[in-house]
Amino acid sequence: MPQIKNTISTDCAATLGHHLFEHSPDCMTLLDGADRLVAMNRAGLAAMDIGDVSQVVHSPWRDLWPAEAHAALDAALADARRHGSAGFSAACPTLNGTPAWWDVRISALPAAGEAAMLVAVSTDVTAQVQVREERERLLKELQAVHQRMSEVFMRAPAFMCLLSGPRHVIDKVNDRYRALVGERPLLGLATEDAVPELLPQGLIAMLDRVYQTGEPYAASDLRVQLQRSPGAAPEARYLDLVFIALRDADGSITGLLGHGVDQTHRKLAGIALHDSRERFEKIVSQAATGVVEMDVNGYVTLVNRRFCTMLGYDESELIGQSILDLTAPDSVDITARSLGGLLATGEGFQIDKHYRRKDGSLIPATSSVNAIRGASGEYRAVVAIVLDTTESKQAETRLRRLADDLAEADRRKTEFLATLAHELRNPLAPIRSGLGVMRLNRDLPAGMVRVREMMERQVTHMVHLIDDLLDVARISGGKLNLRMDRIALNGVLASAVETSLPLIEAAHHELVLDLPETGLLVDGDATRIAQIVSNLLNNAAKYTPAGGRIGLSLRAQAGQAVVTVTDTGIGIPAHALESVFEMFSQVGSGAERAQGGLGIGLSLVRQLVQMHGGSVDAESGGAAGGSRFTVRLPLAPGVPDAAPGTVDTPAQEETDAGSLHVLVVDDNIDAALTLAMILDIEGYTTEVAHSGARALEAAAVFRPAVVFLDIGMPGMDGYETAAALRRLPGIETPCLVALTGWGAEHDRARSRAAGFDHHLTKPVDLGTVQKLLADMAAASRGGHPPCARKT
Ligand code: ADP
Repeated sequence: MPQIKNTISTDCAATLGHHLFEHSPDCMTLLDGADRLVAMNRAGLAAMDIGDVSQVVHSPWRDLWPAEAHAALDAALADARRHGSAGFSAACPTLNGTPAWWDVRISALPAAGEAAMLVAVSTDVTAQVQVREERERLLKELQAVHQRMSEVFMRAPAFMCLLSGPRHVIDKVNDRYRALVGERPLLGLATEDAVPELLPQGLIAMLDRVYQTGEPYAASDLRVQLQRSPGAAPEARYLDLVFIALRDADGSITGLLGHGVDQTHRKLAGIALHDSRERFEKIVSQAATGVVEMDVNGYVTLVNRRFCTMLGYDESELIGQSILDLTAPDSVDITARSLGGLLATGEGFQIDKHYRRKDGSLIPATSSVNAIRGASGEYRAVVAIVLDTTESKQAETRLRRLADDLAEADRRKTEFLATLAHELRNPLAPIRSGLGVMRLNRDLPAGMVRVREMMERQVTHMVHLIDDLLDVARISGGKLNLRMDRIALNGVLASAVETSLPLIEAAHHELVLDLPETGLLVDGDATRIAQIVSNLLNNAAKYTPAGGRIGLSLRAQAGQAVVTVTDTGIGIPAHALESVFEMFSQVGSGAERAQGGLGIGLSLVRQLVQMHGGSVDAESGGAAGGSRFTVRLPLAPGVPDAAPGTVDTPAQEETDAGSLHVLVVDDNIDAALTLAMILDIEGYTTEVAHSGARALEAAAVFRPAVVFLDIGMPGMDGYETAAALRRLPGIETPCLVALTGWGAEHDRARSRAAGFDHHLTKPVDLGTVQKLLADMAAASRGGHPPCARKT
């Protein structure tokens, strides 16, 4: 066997070297001592896309490399020259620009004395580098995904946990999970140890099942008791949750992912809502009023029992009906308009309307309606509370009828009072005239004079009562008119005193007057104001035991005339101070108070004062403490508080009957005769007739200058008789004086219209008749016609 030599000859080595250089699969480059390219093998030229070696020969090897590679390249060349070999790795694209990475080994060839040549063997590692870069990119991507997942896990709006192994060791939980189970050690612990309360609730067994079978577990509204802080009582939470198995690459289960949402708040709110709805429905169903809920278009969505009964429908028949279809035609308009207004403004309303019952009948009701809004303010429903007003409407009608009946009864009563008063006047007329006749008889024995005086007082009292009654009746009927004049009050007060003096004197009272020298002026009816004051003075006299003191004062205060009547009498209890002014009111019923009144005097006083724009009030020191009545009347505008008195007081004139012919016509024979008797005694020439027809006959013959003519006569009444008298041929027209029980202004106007010159109310006051006749006599003496309309 030939011995194998481990050396070869130089020629052989050169051939070998050349062969290895040319056929090496790597890129081989030969560099001269100045690192210039001397030769490149075939593989190198091909790898670097160099068509002809002349393109690169003699140029510095470094120029083939990109600038980034220069530092490593320079260092490796220097190292190779110093130590014989070196290496580096760098990217160097081919001349065509194809990217390529190279592992380069540089070796120095032996040389003597001069710079050695270098051989660089560059292995193309492009594929490895690209694989490595791809792996690194993938790794980075994976890390980013992992990071994102981790963030999602931590920030998810659901609670999440990652459990590993058969004991469900807690690897990772998010904040929501911690919030759910409460602050406690979790990570690294088996679920059973970290959250032990899950075990008795069967939840660890559930985790076991998912782990063993790989079947996911899902539940909603799962009630789980959790002890959320140490020592605290377990708390119920309502959870929607899912547990799924996690598997490794070969599909075996390694752990569980749990996630879910804590629905406790929603659940509790739902329970509360349900409870309140149930409570609401219970209240509504038992309510005594009808309740109906409808949608915003007016379609019924809920009704209570009462509403069903009211309308005669079943609940199921009402649901879905339009409220307008349940409304009576006369109320549809207002209902639709009010509902429109409610939805436009949000303001509730209340209306009286009629509903239509199932049987077609109508039912009156009051509906209070309001809108119900949702959380964002939108209208969700309309609720009406409906009150059946059938009974109250009936009661109202009954009351109205009752009030009408009462008013009618009151009107009749007033009418009756007026008629009664009028009728009472007729018999009083002859009595008063009779007393007048007696007065003219100067030969009466003293005893009879006292009787006559007593009778006169009583008749005056009765006349007074009747006048009051008539006035009250007139005021109630709105028929009393004031004759307004500018009047001086102290004169009026003086005449009131004159009227009441007989009563005051009869009871031996002391009368203390405190009247200003100059009169205060008011705009009013002098007769009525005198009547007011005289009523108060009469009361003071009546309700003060004999020998008392009565005061009357007048002063101006704050634009008002203040008239005060005081007495030292029995007084008025505090509780009755206001009611004494009411009609027919009398305090108590004791004998001491029985003073023959009707309980209308003060009512009249107040009404007359109010008609004058004034006020009256009473004060008292209580039982036996005396009383004080204060009347306030507005002073006349534009007049200083004090002004001279101007009230007329009749001047006493000499009576001169002369030969005045007077005809007295009255169907009441006594009345006619007594008046004629008085006139006879006074010296007039009289004639009497008891009917209109007789009066005309008498007038034709007797030719009266004055005729006293009763109005209310059967057959031809006073008006007709007056007209006929005026038409009597051949006689001068006499002066016509109406005698009547009716003294109101319109009665006077009517008698004036019928041709009467004067109007006297029965029973006529003798003084008035005397004055009237005296005036006429005086006028005819002076050559004037006897008539001048005054009364
Ligand atoms: P009468 O006709 O009863 O006097 P009035 O209306 O004048 O009616 O008075 C009503 C009641 O007021 C009287 O019945 C009396 O009880 C009481 N009254 C009126 N004035 C006085 C007074 N000066 N002192 C005590 N009581 C009085």
